[in-house]
Amino acid sequence: MGILVQKFGGTSLSTDEARRYVLGHISRERQRQLDLVVVVSAMGRKGEPYATDTLLSLIHEHGDNLPPRERDMLLGCGEMISATVLCSILRSNSIPAVALTGGGAGIITDSQFGRARILEIRTEAIHKALQEGQVVIVTGFQGVTETGELTTLGRGGSDTSATALGAALRAERIDIYTDVNGILTADPRIVKDARPLSVVGYAEICNMARQGAKVIHPRAVEIAQQARIPLRVRSTFSEEEGTLVTDSLDAEQAAIVRDRYVTGVAHVSGVTQITVHAQDGHSDMQLHVFQAMAHHHISVDFINVNPGGAVYTVFDADADQAVAVLNEIGYYPKAVSGCAKISVIGGGMNGVPGIMARIVEALTEEGIPILQSADSNTTIWVLVREAFMAKALQALHAKFSLHQ
Ligand code: ASP
Ligand code: MG
Repeated sequence: MGILVQKFGGTSLSTDEARRYVLGHISRERQRQLDLVVVVSAMGRKGEPYATDTLLSLIHEHGDNLPPRERDMLLGCGEMISATVLCSILRSNSIPAVALTGGGAGIITDSQFGRARILEIRTEAIHKALQEGQVVIVTGFQGVTETGELTTLGRGGSDTSATALGAALRAERIDIYTDVNGILTADPRIVKDARPLSVVGYAEICNMARQGAKVIHPRAVEIAQQARIPLRVRSTFSEEEGTLVTDSLDAEQAAIVRDRYVTGVAHVSGVTQITVHAQDGHSDMQLHVFQAMAHHHISVDFINVNPGGAVYTVFDADADQAVAVLNEIGYYPKAVSGCAKISVIGGGMNGVPGIMARIVEALTEEGIPILQSADSNTTIWVLVREAFMAKALQALHAKFSLHQ
């Protein structure tokens, strides 16, 4: 029998009603004679009783002096609650089920608490339970070190648990259940006619995820891509199949993808553009600037370096510090805060003339100045003022007819 991994996110588990939908998806797939491994996140979002952020707020109240090891013990509780509650629901509905912790499922990690990397997955316990006909529920987001300490994989890590398990078990597919109908062409809160995509490539979704689309963790996509296991991103609250993520397309899917230069637009707001000009007598300007940023752990992005100077972005929250650090070493940068990085993403844009022209056209028609741009073979980025962000996304979405 083939193995299917189903992963349910926080909003899919937070209410009784939501959990009934989860039960429905599990029962349906079981009837298709698939062996099921079900990965769960903590229930709900910040403020709801067992959400990860709510657990964290319990220690923030006391000034948060908890060491990373103990913090991971706390963070791991949310997923344990989800897994055991779901196990009880399945069993009450005559579906045999067991719940396993990350460690119990054989997920071995290094000991970087709070951002552990998976080293290995020992699948014996899962295989044994599957052979007994059980649905195997696994707590997402956690693993265990060789010496038995609980670790967590970094925020949003239960997607990674799901794809890593899928890869280790050679699953037929990994279904990521969330609260939206798959991967959309844009954020529907900003672009009203954004629509779900039926199929996308791994690189496309990875770019979207890195560039602000929150639907799946990019690390999880990379793991699925390496293992060549298809992913489906779909809604818990509907029977629609959502978006298939794969690089092996059938003829019909291949036609959709081939005819599409641009797949979607994504955005990251809250960034500051920093411009440093080269000055006489400072020959190593570029070296000084980026070493200073690295030394102060300021993450830099959207980097353009040329003999006249350097332009890059930092998060707004790091901007004051970045400027102070530069002042200290004798540079007086210009900082423009409140910017947004907009990505136009499409696996088919490589080598196609005219994409940048249409981007510039869309923004110029709306009177939106482009502060900076960059490109790779699947994405073109433009930096604009945050005040123009929504208009820019809408204009680009329309220019590339993404609503169709
Ligand atoms: N519950 C964890 C978090 O909120 C893991 C996850 O949801 O993926 O980060
Ligand atoms: Mg998540």
